[in-house]
Amino acid sequence: MIRIGAHVSAAGGVENAPLNAHKIGAKAFALFTKNQRQWEAKPLTEENIRKFTENCEKYGFEKHFILPHDSYLINLGHPAKEKLEKSRAAFLDEMQRCEQLGIPALNFHPGSHLNEITEEQCLNTIAESVNRALDKTSGVMAVIENTAGQGTNLGYNFEQLAYIIDKIEDKTRMGVCYDTCHGFAAGYDIRTEEAFGRTFGQFDEIIGLEYLKGFHLNDCKKNLGSRVDRHEKIGFGTIDLEGFALIVNDPRFEDIPMILETPNQEGWADEIEFLYSLQK
Ligand SMILES: [Zn+2]
Ligand SMILES: [Zn+2]
Repeated sequence: MIRIGAHVSAAGGVENAPLNAHKIGAKAFALFTKNQRQWEAKPLTEENIRKFTENCEKYGFEKHFILPHDSYLINLGHPAKEKLEKSRAAFLDEMQRCEQLGIPALNFHPGSHLNEITEEQCLNTIAESVNRALDKTSGVMAVIENTAGQGTNLGYNFEQLAYIIDKIEDKTRMGVCYDTCHGFAAGYDIRTEEAFGRTFGQFDEIIGLEYLKGFHLNDCKKNLGSRVDRHEKIGFGTIDLEGFALIVNDPRFEDIPMILETPNQEGWADEIEFLYSLQK
């Protein structure tokens, strides 16, 4: 079964996320387990955790169809020691929140070199950061997201993602989330059957499709290879609908959470329904 949902609000407490996901007809969802623009956050309470699980059960969300996203402040490849430590501590906190909520995966952005270290040094730092967090937690997978390659963000090609994965000690706890907007902006075309086949053929060859644990379904405002990260509503951007139709009809992608991050919060219910309608 294809599992389409969106990155829903957890305002008022994480327990509200499954409710918000249910309201839009989602069969999977993403959330922030803390305010994504602040370093400090109150710990989850027993009540948050209990109600979250209750609501997931009530609305039929199994935990492996939930893919939380880490804070935008975190840079696991930060060139400066103090800031790197801060990012690592925040990432560990987020992994632990997933652990507490019984969610088996956390989606994160690789990191940025900020023109202060080489790409290779930054990739090594990211891998070390992930290894440390995996070492201090259990039952939670680190799911790395491909990026558009805007600015000094790494992880915009499959080789970089594979390089990081190669350095992870426990590969059973490592996954990849493929963001269609980021991929397209980074030069990976999915607009035709041939292009789609080539892109995921490369993914399989370089990374391995067994690592694919999530999708972010976003159309793209900018052109193929622009390296500019601007999400667009499905059907309104530069990725043809054919690309999304190919994804939702691919049996290899069944039971993988597919999350909308389009600038279309009011329209997510319709967007989810529309994507399901593309199934043959
Ligand atoms: Zn992301
Ligand atoms: Zn994304």
